[in-house]
Amino acid sequence: MMNKMDKPADARIKGWCPGAWRPMATGDGLLVRVRPRLGRLTRSQMLALCDAAETFGSGLIELTSRANLQLRGVSEATWPGLMDFLVEHGLVDPDPHAERRPQLLLAPDWQAGDATHEAARLLQARLGEMPELPDKMGIAIDVGDAPVLGEVSADFRIERSAPGTLQPRASGGLLVRADGRALGTPVDSVAAAVEHLVRLTHWFVASGGGQAGRMRRHRTPLPSWAPASIRPAEAGPRPALGHHVRGRVVGLPFGRAPASALRAAIEPTAVTAVRVTPWRRLLVEGAGEGAACAGAASVAGLLNDENDPRLAMQACPGAPHCEQASVETLGLAERLAGRVEGSVHVSGCAKGCASQTPAELCLAGRAGGFDLIVGGCADGTPVATGLSEAEVVELISRRPGR
Ligand code: SF4
Repeated sequence: MMNKMDKPADARIKGWCPGAWRPMATGDGLLVRVRPRLGRLTRSQMLALCDAAETFGSGLIELTSRANLQLRGVSEATWPGLMDFLVEHGLVDPDPHAERRPQLLLAPDWQAGDATHEAARLLQARLGEMPELPDKMGIAIDVGDAPVLGEVSADFRIERSAPGTLQPRASGGLLVRADGRALGTPVDSVAAAVEHLVRLTHWFVASGGGQAGRMRRHRTPLPSWAPASIRPAEAGPRPALGHHVRGRVVGLPFGRAPASALRAAIEPTAVTAVRVTPWRRLLVEGAGEGAACAGAASVAGLLNDENDPRLAMQACPGAPHCEQASVETLGLAERLAGRVEGSVHVSGCAKGCASQTPAELCLAGRAGGFDLIVGGCADGTPVATGLSEAEVVELISRRPGR
């Protein structure tokens, strides 16, 4: 039985990074976020998470841009039971303080014993040595032969140098890089990288980084013991939907899927685990190898085609899932899929949680209607306002080139 807390702490406070012990109150109840350890859940853990979503939440599971999984629609009354369940299945640390530590984001195709796994294992063991850092801070570990996390939000990175800058090795030597700095500090081993990174977190706090909140915004020069002189390797492509050397990559439309769809994708017994990514894609280990796994290739509610137009679209949960929203977003996003060339963002309000980068077509809810913004963000200047969903579809259909 859960006894750390019998009600969610600070559930009504906004502006922090929610977790499981500190869920966030949203329009459809509490949002409970789970951080998969080393970015991986075993098949039985993933099945348990699907059960949890259906028993305690709305039945939807979301995959965030920091590669976390979250449940929605949890009530304050059922939250204690959910926490007991998540702890019991190893989905949440029983110590509430553990989820306040910086998150580790791993390149998803790490292998046991490789440099990414080794760095993550060493760092995980030393998280308790780090000072208290601002809530949203995270660490990317991306030292496979082909780096992939270059565009993903992280405050400190362990990564590879550009080929030829450090060693003859084609994939480069090891670097530790502070976010917002173009260059990193070379280190000569995984253990040295971890040591350096832990030291950097202490420097960050001691030099006033707490006020900035994120490394990117902390403009104080790096200390003399951390000379940044080496260029990191360019990020390679993210794993494509479909066959993968470890199984199958499936996509989640707009970053969310019903638990029933995810359960169907991992039901084949050949599936061993699920790895999370920051790109609305899951790597289902063992899927797609033989007839027993053929079902994972065509599960309703998941994306399997790299050309699916929904991959290029952004949509936040909207109404009724978020109390800031005055419009539903997901139905409109589905209706617009394939009708618009270029990037599309459907937002429940001007906050634009799903994307902070301009979209060729952005629709933002306001007072029960949609504002249409061309080439901008959800808080941009609209070219039309107060549109109904039908009017949006009609307007899009009449655009030149359709
Ligand atoms: S953009 Fe607005 S409506 Fe959408 S999730 Fe964020 S706050 Fe809620």
